[in-house]
Amino acid sequence: MINVSHLTKKYNRFVANDNMSFMVKDGEIAVLAGPNGAGKSTAIKCIAGLLRFSGEIEICGHNNKSMEARQILGYVPEIPAPFELLTVWEHMEFIARAYRLKDWQERAEMLVRRMELDDKKDKMGKELSKGMQQKISICCALLIEPKVVLFDEPFVGLDPHAIKELKATLSELREKGVTIIISTHMLDSVEEFWDRLLIMMRGRIEAERERKAVEKSGENLEELFFKITEKDKQEQ
Ligand code: ADP
Repeated sequence: MINVSHLTKKYNRFVANDNMSFMVKDGEIAVLAGPNGAGKSTAIKCIAGLLRFSGEIEICGHNNKSMEARQILGYVPEIPAPFELLTVWEHMEFIARAYRLKDWQERAEMLVRRMELDDKKDKMGKELSKGMQQKISICCALLIEPKVVLFDEPFVGLDPHAIKELKATLSELREKGVTIIISTHMLDSVEEFWDRLLIMMRGRIEAERERKAVEKSGENLEELFFKITEKDKQEQ
């Protein structure tokens, strides 16, 4: 479960997240949607405990900066930052040691195979393409068997096979009760599997919808998205 309450993040005087509050339940996939610059990455970095902010964020009932929260939180950044001199497999070993994981090898093998990195296991981070580096981030985030995972624009830069595998993985995680947040500027990339949609504009959540309600009402989400994100243009 993720509970975000009155999250405000300023970069000097610029307000990137403006009093955002929302909750994502266990086994739910929430999508943070909005145009570039809406504040999605900033919100995800705050939830991941990487930035200072005002407000409160809880991960399964623990303050997001606590050890308890960090142990169950996976984060896949928008821009991958692997260790240049560690191989793919050494990344797995590093995470396993840092999180004191037991019996992790088989899971690591499975993740690496699934992301089609098995023939690159001995390649160093710096020798890999951006897409492959992103796949390492995904493997690292999932190796710890997180209860909450944050994906920042995960489909950008991945090849079609990896996108298919990632989508299948997301569904499996949801079935296991894992809580997921995905940010995207393209609504259609997530339309098959979202449960909760948060449309952001200028640091604020301008609309929140649950899938079940939208299925009943038949509301057109694309229209809603553009109504919110193109409001200024219409007013000009
Ligand atoms: P999104 O992920 O929706 O594209 P971001 O969270 O990356 O949006 O950025 C939101 C706003 O905050 C943008 O206007 C961006 O320029 C600004 N911003 C992001 N990071 C920084 C930073 N480190 N310093 C100053 N401004 C930033």
